[in-house]
Amino acid sequence: APRRATAKFATAAEALSTVFGYDSFRGEQAQIIDQVIDGGDAVVLMPTGGGKSLCYQIPSLVREGTGIVISPLIALMQDQVDALTAVGVRAAFLNSSQDSAARGQVERDYLAGDLDLLYVAPERLSSEATKRFLDRGTIALFAIDEAHCVSQWGHDFRPDYLALSELADRWPDVPRIALTATATDATHKELTTRLQLGQARHFVASFDRPNIQYRIVGKAEPRKQLLAFIRAEHQGDAGIVYALSRKTVEQTAEFLRQNGVNALPYHAGLDQGLRARTQSRFLREDGVVIVATIAFGMGIDKPDVRFVAHIDLPKSVEGYYQETGRAGRDGLPSTGWLAYGLQDVVQQRRMIDESPGDLAHRRKLSAHLDAMLALCETVSCRRVNLLRYFGQPSEPCGNCDTCLEPPVGWDGTVAAQKLLSTVVRLLRERNQRFGAGQLIDILRGKVTPRTTQHGHDQLATWGIGADLSDQQWRGVVRQLLAQGFLATSGEYGTLVLTDAAAEVLAGRRTVELRTEPERAARPAAGAR
Ligand code: ADP
Ligand code: ZN
Repeated sequence: APRRATAKFATAAEALSTVFGYDSFRGEQAQIIDQVIDGGDAVVLMPTGGGKSLCYQIPSLVREGTGIVISPLIALMQDQVDALTAVGVRAAFLNSSQDSAARGQVERDYLAGDLDLLYVAPERLSSEATKRFLDRGTIALFAIDEAHCVSQWGHDFRPDYLALSELADRWPDVPRIALTATATDATHKELTTRLQLGQARHFVASFDRPNIQYRIVGKAEPRKQLLAFIRAEHQGDAGIVYALSRKTVEQTAEFLRQNGVNALPYHAGLDQGLRARTQSRFLREDGVVIVATIAFGMGIDKPDVRFVAHIDLPKSVEGYYQETGRAGRDGLPSTGWLAYGLQDVVQQRRMIDESPGDLAHRRKLSAHLDAMLALCETVSCRRVNLLRYFGQPSEPCGNCDTCLEPPVGWDGTVAAQKLLSTVVRLLRERNQRFGAGQLIDILRGKVTPRTTQHGHDQLATWGIGADLSDQQWRGVVRQLLAQGFLATSGEYGTLVLTDAAAEVLAGRRTVELRTEPERAARPAAGAR
């Protein structure tokens, strides 16, 4: 039942128990909340499910005035406001989805001092009219949610966030709290500067999600591998499967349905009504698997998502961490499963080459991809790598694939030399460039119409790689790409050498490779 309509609480503890029904704070919540209630600024880095919302909701219930929450998740504002209203908090939102009557009511409530929390989209705050409007009421605090969006170096930059730097100048006496669940050291620094939070207290929680088991497998037949994974470990569980293209999303959902998994597709090309129904089925029914592009899942609070699977390589470690983080918010064992292969590397490098924007932008995308590849190819603990990326040293976890089944490294120098010298010979002797498939056919001495037509059986490297299987060679190429010895060029994904490759060819540098896991080593049809 809604509580009394006169807002404020005397203490944070009282608001916590009366409104939210909890008896104690978690982690650093109490210190964060005190800091903001006392009028100070805060920067909060806390993983998904850590309890960030209370850090600004409770100060808004204790301090005089309305807490202004800036969030890019317009589609979720209604849900957030409904959830708060249900426990008696006077909350509302202002965004472009509203008609003028609804907006007018919210504005009157704010000016009358009848709102504890007001959610606004970031673009509203760049308008002078909005700022003047806010000035006519009482602002308890500003909460800047998803604060990593202000970082141009980050993976999810939103230009509208840049305008938020003005909050400090315009309202120097209003406390500000910036929150995010994904920030590397660089992003943390950048958001602190851009949002003028130099005087803020910083609260950095561990980003570890110990109940999530991280696994990364070689991609051969992704749909079948995914189905086998779900059947073996997550039959009947709720999960999210991420793919890059709408087509893959549709096909994968269809394939899973045909095989008895309650799967639904979700992507930006589906009509809005259908998307809303899909999302609500996922939240309300048991065991629904959503196959989605990254458009799905941000801010969705479903505690019992048991697995998050990626059948295409995510573009950044931040994205991967954020997406896998949607599993296991309830703290129970969950899995982050990723299938990745040579084609992912080729395709993503090509997308970067062709992406609009300046060199700096492409460099940034490249650096993001390289970090993601390093995580995929590591022979040490995935979690250690992941946490190190966020600036948090840790010990091997015992709950990831590399800890559970340590991969064996091998000296791939000779294999690398064979492959790299084939690339060199094709270019020098024939002025030709090819992709991985043709190079591997040459190395394995495989007679095909294409090798015959080009007379590639005359090359000195013809057949010198017969000791490795097709799949093993694909692993070698993938790792050479990932480690920066090879690069792709042009629209066909042809392979070219990098400066580092010359060192290997000259015998001045060795190449450490990891053996392909069993599953991927199985030759498979349709693997490309
Ligand atoms: P985040 O925004 O960091 O992902 P939320 O604020 O959505 O996390 O909180 C995650 C879940 O934990 C929510 O269901 C929330 O109600 C719950 N929660 C947060 N703080 C506490 C607490 N002190 N005691 C019990 N449950 C809490
Ligand atoms: Zn580990």
